Amino acid sequence: MTAVAPCWICGGGAAETREHRSKASDLRSLFGTPTQADPLYFHTAKRKNFRVGSLKADVLKFSHRICIQCNAARTQPHDRAWAVLSETLRSRQPPIVGPVTEARHFGDGRGFAGGPRADTQNAARAGPCG
Ligand SMILES: [Zn+2]
Repeated sequence: MTAVAPCWICGGGAAETREHRSKASDLRSLFGTPTQADPLYFHTAKRKNFRVGSLKADVLKFSHRICIQCNAARTQPHDRAWAVLSETLRSRQPPIVGPVTEARHFGDGRGFAGGPRADTQNAARAGPCG
């Protein structure tokens, strides 16, 4: 039997859930819902074009885990506040950034082809990561 790591937030409980690096609702809003046939492509400094066929993919989540109680009681108010801010920023007119022209490619801002300038532009298009 594998030992369950303690919750990253409270240090107790059985840490059974993992938070998304970028909220799934943000990714869905920007890129739609990926499928195995129509995936997203995630980039990091170590790996480019990692195919993501589901917004529940492990690569989209932090490695640390949190317990169910912290996920419900401690992080959800912040998740809801972020959702309101994110939607407000995305719907702002005029837009804060230009349209996403390289849809379905995103990452941690370090692994994009084209050098630092392209990294910055792509990271801005992709929104907050990690
Ligand atoms: Zn906890």
